[in-house]
This record gives sequence, structure tokens and C-alpha cells, in this order.
Amino acid sequence: MTAGQLRFVLGDQLSPTLSALRDADKDRDVVLMVEAGAEATYVRHHKKKIAFVLAAMRAFAHELRDAGFRVDYVQLDDPDNTQDLGGELARAVARWRPAAVSVTLAGEYRLVAEQRSWGEKLTCPVQLLEDDRFICAIPEFNAWAADRRQLRMEFFYRAMRRKTGLLMDGDEPVGGRWNFDSENRKPARPGLAWPDPPRFAPGPETQEVLDLVGERYANHFGDLLPFWLPVTRRDAEAAAEDFIANRLALFGDYQDAMIAGEAFLAHSLLSSALNVGLLDPLTLCRQAEAAYCSGAVSLNAAEGFIRQIIGWREFIRGVYWRHMPGYLRSNSLAATRALPQFYWTGETDMTCLAEAIGQTRREAYAHHIQRLMVTGNFALLAGIDPAELHEWYLSVYIDAFEWVEAPNTIGMSQYADGGIVASKPYASSGAYIKRMSNYCQTCRYDPSERTGPDACPFNALYWRFLDRHRARFAANPRMSRMVAALNAMAPDLRQALLARAEEFLNRIDHHGTDKMPC
Ligand code: FAD
Ligand code: SF4
Repeated sequence: MTAGQLRFVLGDQLSPTLSALRDADKDRDVVLMVEAGAEATYVRHHKKKIAFVLAAMRAFAHELRDAGFRVDYVQLDDPDNTQDLGGELARAVARWRPAAVSVTLAGEYRLVAEQRSWGEKLTCPVQLLEDDRFICAIPEFNAWAADRRQLRMEFFYRAMRRKTGLLMDGDEPVGGRWNFDSENRKPARPGLAWPDPPRFAPGPETQEVLDLVGERYANHFGDLLPFWLPVTRRDAEAAAEDFIANRLALFGDYQDAMIAGEAFLAHSLLSSALNVGLLDPLTLCRQAEAAYCSGAVSLNAAEGFIRQIIGWREFIRGVYWRHMPGYLRSNSLAATRALPQFYWTGETDMTCLAEAIGQTRREAYAHHIQRLMVTGNFALLAGIDPAELHEWYLSVYIDAFEWVEAPNTIGMSQYADGGIVASKPYASSGAYIKRMSNYCQTCRYDPSERTGPDACPFNALYWRFLDRHRARFAANPRMSRMVAALNAMAPDLRQALLARAEEFLNRIDHHGTDKMPC
């Protein structure tokens, strides 16, 4: 059979507005969708993440069929499936003999390189189209970045506010300030009720996916069940509405808070739906703006949420494409330690890490401050190899796609890019975690102790980190005060801190955990 165009849709391109679907001739064109095993295993993704992407793909195929498209869908368990995107495209071209293939550029450098090679291997031309589901196109980001000595998210964010008109009063920000971050750092208050996020029971098709993933990827990290994520557009939109109605009001104040046993607090849990294309970022921001305009939420809540999406999310993407492919090899602090085993098992006496890793295993989710100031901060202080850490974050989180994960991990959390994303390393002692969470209350370590076997490991590791990078950070205006404190420290105390840090690191290097054998 001869088709008009073959329109190839990838697993994170589940948007009806996708450039590869635009102007399709529904009578002649065919949409190709492929479940490729190679994409599930090039890093060993969390079981829940694989199930989420496959279930959302199958739901999108239905959405397209309902809208009148012809869809050629290759399932993971199809016996002829080559498990490779390029291989399946070649088979589909042989099946349909289309005049051309249209595909939207992938969100990952590795795949774009592959896409660029398809044209040479196929018997028909391949048209690569921009992914315009973002607020800032890559050439626009590059033009903004071109004449700047340093890229700072805050200035990019202001440009995006002006561009979208979100929370703007003419050319000025609503409320007279661009950024209400200082009001978004309240520690967790005991007794505050956190409304539960909506949970969506898996339909029969999602159940089939769960069975398949449970069988094929049994030895991948993480728990497959319970599975309650939205996988259809309708459910993702319902989840977004629920967040705006019930949790956005609390999101602003408690964005940075952490509480033992509370995985979600007032976070939106919308990153996975956004990243695969079930939600549109601008529509979501307009909903948050409308909630502020109607008086349902405060300005710091709406602004804080909108900033994450039109600010951080877009900025991070711009950095990724501007600095790839070399970005993945960045290691400005020359960190080489292997990732401790407890990142996979969660077996550590450090309550903060056990909580963050435990919920990551269960839910494939940790919120931003857990990723940045607990697992990220520990890795930074311990000097973990950023490439190995990048692979961990890419595998374990439901929302992890390289364009967004890599600059957050390598840049923001590890400072391995030498300061492209962040103006200073997000390094802190146990004091920050103590202030923002209740983790320390049940920890075997004491956050107020600096040396000795019961001292919080973050404390000694923090001073060791400063000591190792003293020369580099002395010149950084945001770090120089701490370097001065280190310089003024009594030599005995400095020695005791360094000894405590080395003893602790030796233990995790040799045993994979700080836990003492019973
Ligand atoms: P909320 O707290 O409700 O925030 C709202 C939305 O803002 C998110 O859904 C997300 O789309 C966006 N957002 C917030 N912060 C960021 C950010 N720094 N970069 C990009 N978007 C942001 N986010 C991912 O989407 N995928 C990742 O793989 C990823 N890896 C990360 C790794 C590290 C080391 C760190 C520090 C952050 C990472 N983030 C990543 C950013 C952020 O942690 C997640 O977007 C957020 O935790 C998702 O949960 P949520 O939807 O409940 O977000
Ligand atoms: Fe984490 Fe230290 Fe607090 Fe324990 S005492 S929870 S290790 S910050």
C-alpha cells in the first residue's frame, strides 16, 4: 500500500499540535508510533517510567484514531519489532512506501543525531521539523544568550514574562516585583494538611502495559505498583485542574519544604505529563494566572509556579541545546567518586537520603528540593562523578528526559558545568536540611554535631568540599564569606572535620552504605 506521508511520532511527542502532525492529510497519511525496547534500556529506566510512557503512547494512538488519523502502532511485544526506532521506521517505510517521512526533532541530542542519519538510509526523503511546543525556540534562546557573559535564569525569565504577557501590567510585572522567591521558602509546618493528588485507576490498556513491563523489566529499579498516574490527555488535564484548585495556594509558601512520609506536599506532579506532551506549558501557566486574578491563590504562589515553567524549564532546555554534546562530559570540579550503592537500595542511616531515595523507588518522584539539596547536595559534597550521577537521575525519575535532566543534574546540582546554570554551587551543611524539613528529628545523626561518629555527615563533607575548592570559590562573591570562615577556622577543628569526612567517605566507598553491620 502507498501512503502519502509517514508521520513518525516519538514517545514524548504526544501532542495533537505536534509539528509532525500539522497539515496531515488524514485520508492519505499514516501516523507511525513505535514502542522501542532500546529506548527503555539505554539507561535502565524505572519500571514506572517505562509503563507511564508506553501507556501514554497507547492512549495517544487512540486519541489520534478518534480524531480520524490512520495509526500504525508497533507494540513492544510485537514479534517482528526490531526494538529500535530506526529499524522500525525502515520496516514501516517498506510497508507503506510513503512519499516522505515527517518527524519532529527529538528532545535528546543522541536521538537527533540518529534522526539526521535516517534520510541516508531510507528510500524516501525525511523531513525534520522543529519542536515548537516550547515558549522559547532554540534560535531565540541562542540570540538571547549570544552577547551575555553569564547566562542567568532570572533575566531570561523576565524576557519570557514580557513575551507571554503572563502576570504583566503593561511592561511592568504585576505586584511591582518579578520574583517572589524569598516568600516561597517556608519550612514545613507540623499539622498542615496536604491535599492528596488525584489518583487515576489504570484502565484495561494500562493494565496490559503494566503486565508487560512487570514481566520484561522486572530487574529494573523501582516499584511498578501502585500505578495511578494520568496517561490520557483528559486525565492529565483533570490533574492540572485539581492542582490549581487544591494545591497551588500552598505551593508558593512551601515549595522548598520537606517532610518525612510526605512525598508530594503541594507540588503539582505535572512534569511527566508536560514532558511527554499531554499538557501544554503555556495553557497551564494561564490557568495559574487566572487563579491569581480570581483571588483563589496569592501572587507568590502563581508567580512561583509560572517561573518554574516559563523560567527554569525553558532556560534549562536552552542551555542543553546550546552546550551539547560536550555538556554531558562536564566535570569542572574533577569529581570522580563512584555513586554509592545506597542510591539504589536506599539503605543509609541518613534519614534525609533514605526518605528521598525511598520515595524515588516507590513513586519515581522526588520534588525539586529533595533532588537538589538532598541527593544532589550529598553527591556534590562527596565528589561523585557527575556522569554517573546524571545516569542515575535519568533512570530513576518519571519525568527524566535528557534535555531537562542533564542541565539540572550536571549544571544546577553538581556545578560541573563551571557555573553556566548556577552562579554558585548548591552546597550546604546539615543546617539547611534541618531548617527546611523534619528529617533530622528521627535521624541517627545529629545535625548540630560537626565531628565524631554521630555528627551529621553533611557538616564535615561541606567543609571538606570548601577546603578542596577553596581557591576556585574564594573569588566567587556568593561563596567568599564561607571560604573566609574556613580560613579563620582553628587548625585542630579543620583537621577533625577533614578526618571525619574521610572516614565517612571511606566507609561508603567500601561498603556502599554508612550503615554499620549488625
Ligand atoms: P513542581 O514543583 O510542581 O513545579 C512545577 C513545574 O515546573 C514542574 O512540573 C516542571 O515542569 C517545572 N520545573 C520546576 N523546576 C524545574 C527545573 N529546575 N527545570 C525544569 N523544569 C522545572 N525536571 C524534569 O522535568 N525532569 C527531570 O529529569 C528533572 N531532573 C532534575 C534533576 C535534578 C538534580 C534537579 C535538581 C531537578 C530536576 N528537575 C527535573 C526539575 C524539578 O525537580 C522537577 O521538574 C520537579 O521536581 C517535578 O515535579 P513537579 O511536577 O511536582 O514540579
Ligand atoms: Fe540528613 Fe544530617 Fe539531618 Fe540526618 S542529621 S537527616 S543526615 S541532614
